[in-house]
Amino acid sequence: MKLHVLGVHSPFPGPDGASLGYLVEENGRGILLDCGTGIYARVAEKGWMGKLSAIILSHFHPDHSADIFPFSFAAFHAVRTGLRPGPLPLYIPPGERPTLESLIDGFGGLHVYFREGLEIREYAAGVPLLIGDLRIVPHPVSHTIPTYGFSLQGNGSGTLAYSGDSRDDPSLVKLAREADFFLCEAASTEPGTAGRYGHLTPSQAGRLAHEAACRTLMLTHFFPGIDRRAWIKEAAAAYPGPITAVEPGTTYEIRPPALPFPEVPFSTDPSSRG
Ligand SMILES: [Zn+2]
Repeated sequence: MKLHVLGVHSPFPGPDGASLGYLVEENGRGILLDCGTGIYARVAEKGWMGKLSAIILSHFHPDHSADIFPFSFAAFHAVRTGLRPGPLPLYIPPGERPTLESLIDGFGGLHVYFREGLEIREYAAGVPLLIGDLRIVPHPVSHTIPTYGFSLQGNGSGTLAYSGDSRDDPSLVKLAREADFFLCEAASTEPGTAGRYGHLTPSQAGRLAHEAACRTLMLTHFFPGIDRRAWIKEAAAAYPGPITAVEPGTTYEIRPPALPFPEVPFSTDPSSRG
């Protein structure tokens, strides 16, 4: 299984990249996990419009969902031109169909694009989605609106847990339990700010990864321009395993580690420790 990082910025895209979105690939096909501002261009750049099996949204905040509207036009066009055989499944949180319908209405009635380009489906907590060779389990997390994280596994690959957006909450330990890779948001280094807006600090992300015995921590969800080395340094005080701050345009192989937690090397990035 491969994780292609398409965008990491929030709450708005930066000069060097889009808001949140990831391609998770297994055997040449895959899913788009979140679709924030600027993500459609990255999908098109990688030539993935014809290869996607589904889009899955963690929640409807715009840093994770805004590009679903231009995406609907592109998907409609892809069906009309034969690039895609039919509508692309769009999985949204349970109970959120009225939210999406109101947004579609508010943008001037884009229903034909969502009907012919995308097929809206609601996932359910704890019920696995089996999409191609991927198994994806949605887990409710604690944010300011209905939000889900996911655990993902490919065909014999390692496991990837994705936090979505969440405040410091035990549900994340359950979600990330013994994941090989934990892709976890860390939106602010200031605990009051992070908690008020339903987010984590790097320190909290590190502690949760440690409690869950994750084998690698991947930090994401960065305000444009922040020094990611500071994020890694703060998380490293709470988590003894390897830590990275994911970079847009980078692909990570999700495979089981050679060594079990906690006998992994202390860091994969010596420059980040201090
Ligand atoms: Zn967010």
